[in-house]
Amino acid sequence: MDPGTATTIKACEAIIELQFPVNLNGKLEVFTGWRATHSTHRLPVKGGIRYAPIVEQDEVRALAALMTYKCAIVDVPFGGSKGGLQIDPSKYSRDELQLITRRFARELIRKNFISPSTNVPAPDMGTGEREMAWIADTYKHLHPENLNYNACVTGKPVHHGGIRGRVEATGRGVVYAMREFFRHASDVKNAGMDGGLDGKRIVIQGLGNVGYHAGKLLDEEDDAKIIAIIEKDGALINEEGISIQRVREFINANNTIKGFPDASFTENGKALLEMECDILIPAAMETQITGDNAERINTKLIVEAANGPITFEADEILKNRNITIIPDAYVNAGGVTVSYFEWIRNLSHIRFGRMERRYDEIKGQHYISALQNMTQKDMPDWMQKGIIKGADELDLVRSGLDDTMRNAYQELRDTLETNDKVNDFRTAAYVVAISKIARSYIDLGVY
Ligand code: GLU
Repeated sequence: MDPGTATTIKACEAIIELQFPVNLNGKLEVFTGWRATHSTHRLPVKGGIRYAPIVEQDEVRALAALMTYKCAIVDVPFGGSKGGLQIDPSKYSRDELQLITRRFARELIRKNFISPSTNVPAPDMGTGEREMAWIADTYKHLHPENLNYNACVTGKPVHHGGIRGRVEATGRGVVYAMREFFRHASDVKNAGMDGGLDGKRIVIQGLGNVGYHAGKLLDEEDDAKIIAIIEKDGALINEEGISIQRVREFINANNTIKGFPDASFTENGKALLEMECDILIPAAMETQITGDNAERINTKLIVEAANGPITFEADEILKNRNITIIPDAYVNAGGVTVSYFEWIRNLSHIRFGRMERRYDEIKGQHYISALQNMTQKDMPDWMQKGIIKGADELDLVRSGLDDTMRNAYQELRDTLETNDKVNDFRTAAYVVAISKIARSYIDLGVY
């Protein structure tokens, strides 16, 4: 690639830093927030807004770049962006958070850093459906004339223009990626394993939105064994497997994992990243595996459900130790993939499946009648149900997500197989992403 194009791709195009006051119970408090736009080779740019006490400008820029690569890898036609607000959301009430979020959104909208056609945020660490609904509503008030106002943000609640399956999407995408990995016996063998996901011993860090949904599927549908769960306040261990759903219910009721009855507890959660297992899934936050602990990581496969959980230094160490890594830029792209579906749904102003579902069901009924008529045999009920069922929105979203994750994996794999210089999935992911972005710059030129 010519160095000019490379430098263009590297740079973050724009970043805005906002400082805005909010009147909380008669007292003015000033908040600092950012939104970075990494690449506008496709529009809108896309990426979450995180609320965290330690968020800062460089992090937002780095995560915006990661969004560009993510979208390119899964063929979602967006550029990359990211936002952050320096705040500890647990210290504020719901009403206060609403005021803060609406004010932050208003500033970003006014400065053109939120719009359905150019910049579309989504949830990230510390934000969820609730914040997205407030952002969408703020946009609607400022731009009621824009018929597509709902498309200004994704990850909204379903009754406010969201899409079914968005909340679970990142976690589900992680599992679809893992299932695809396990469909390739040679990839599994290279990682020092065999067979499928069933019975694999898994350690998960983080039972937030991503870790919870990924863990739940692995536990309940793939028969994998979750042998340890690492949370902020410690870790749970049980070689027989831990029910993710039960732990989540316990956390909801007690606000801690301490005291969960069916596993042993240890205070030093982070040390458990080094526990011997088949698969380690860091699903919490960045820089968890570093130069300090990479030598002691004792797993065969790391699945980066979080963004940037492995530092550059640690990545080199793990590579030398032949530990297979399925990288964040690919593996957690399920969230933005379903955001894309939501955006399309908002622009078309109709739920997926609304027009064709019943028609498909009638057609299925006709097939069954025809078959029964010709064979003079009754079709069993379960078979009839399978044929008749028309796809609803959730079926279609999951199907689109599965297809996306599988196709992207194939592309990484092809790159690994055909490019001598590429020996690991992360490099393959960057090669795939950067080639597509460069292609777009070269085709269009820079003006
Ligand atoms: N925050 C998520 C991510 O980091 C989702 C972004 C989106 O849906 O736009 O990928």
